[in-house]
Amino acid sequence: VMGSPTSVVVHYHEIALKGRNRPFFIRRLARNIERATLGLPVRQVRTLPGRLVVELDEPSDPDGPNGLNGLKGVEGGSAWPEVRERLARVVGIANFFPAYRVAPDIDLLTREVLAALQGMTFDSFRVSARRVDKRFPLNSMEIERILGQAIKDYSHRRVDLGSPQLTVGVEVLPRRIFFHFEKVEGLRGMPVGSAGKVVSLLSGGIDSPVAAWRMLRRGCRVAFLHFHSVPFLSPASQEKAKQIVELLTRYQYDSPLYLVPFGELQRQVLLTAAAPLRVVLYRRFMMRIGSALAASRRAKALVTGESLGQVASQTLDNLAVIEKASCLPVLRPLVGMDKDEITAQAKAIGTYELSIQPDQDCCQLFIPPHPATRARLEELEEAESRLDVNALVEQAVSSAEERRFFYPAAKAGACAPGGGARVER
Ligand code: ATP
Ligand code: MG
Repeated sequence: VMGSPTSVVVHYHEIALKGRNRPFFIRRLARNIERATLGLPVRQVRTLPGRLVVELDEPSDPDGPNGLNGLKGVEGGSAWPEVRERLARVVGIANFFPAYRVAPDIDLLTREVLAALQGMTFDSFRVSARRVDKRFPLNSMEIERILGQAIKDYSHRRVDLGSPQLTVGVEVLPRRIFFHFEKVEGLRGMPVGSAGKVVSLLSGGIDSPVAAWRMLRRGCRVAFLHFHSVPFLSPASQEKAKQIVELLTRYQYDSPLYLVPFGELQRQVLLTAAAPLRVVLYRRFMMRIGSALAASRRAKALVTGESLGQVASQTLDNLAVIEKASCLPVLRPLVGMDKDEITAQAKAIGTYELSIQPDQDCCQLFIPPHPATRARLEELEEAESRLDVNALVEQAVSSAEERRFFYPAAKAGACAPGGGARVER
């Protein structure tokens, strides 16, 4: 009956602690999983006590999209590698496993486990059972003992409780038992979209993509904002920002990117302000423009990749006067991390390779050799009083160009497995 696993059981972790709001987080996670697996042979995502189950098309299901059936031939290369890859990027999953499903009966379970073990090679094993449905007549230890003995008799392999080559996992739920041989670690965190929207200032450097990703992993939906200096500099920084957003969209499925021209504003700052103040003045403009844009899109905070003391403009004094210019909270998820830690994270997410591509960041334009490490608010305000701040901010906000990125392709069935992010104008 059972040739191959037809379900993927998904465990979450932090969500389990959310008390009365739990159903909200679980629904969000289920929806994100549906979205993440668009185009794959997923029939539905079902909510069970303490876990979610992604049900795949039965091996013989003629209605399965793309002719892909269940997880048939897990080893032989079918839908599983792609399902696995997609789920591994869904924020909020603690771990997941491709599972076989049987009716809640120990004899049936034993028979199906032995059938599934056919052709599998292993020297040692253990059974790890969990009885969620206490109405099932055997407790987890009894299940482990009975099933373990049967596997031993059948395979003549030894039991190893410490580091077995094969772990047979069993979960007894109401009306069904799942068993599995493989467990995949998830990203953890909170489901994207459960924590509200933020606008993340994205430079194309190493830090800001990591900052955005960390907020995303805390459940935020992230809109990206990139300042460029076209026509003073080349459009390379925009291309880079787009590539980074495209990559990060794989974690949140739908990303807006705002591209805002910053060159003219920088030129005006250059003409009026003393060199050491300029970097902080640029940052304050980024805060004003960012928070105006964010507020109009109902985002609740700005995010930057600043890290305390990393560069002259990121001293505590400067961070303080920079964020005074924002009308929204400024979140700095990297504030306590050093460059090595940030770099390691960028490599793990995959943004590092994009970030180290050469480009011309807007802040290289008109940059003074020695920025002030302790810009004083009065000095900054004095310099700003010689500029038409509101007009410059309004001008920037109204010339923002919006792009949207989707992953996977927006329409169900329109995307072949392995398909990349689709970019819409
Ligand atoms: P990153 O590696 O993210 O560029 P950084 O260490 O180079 O950071 P800065 O250049 O001082 O730091 O920039 C600090 C933060 O300001 C960035 O992390 C980013 O959030 C924001 N920022 C800088 N330049 C831009 C830009 N061109 N567009 C949008 N945001 C920017
Ligand atoms: Mg930078």
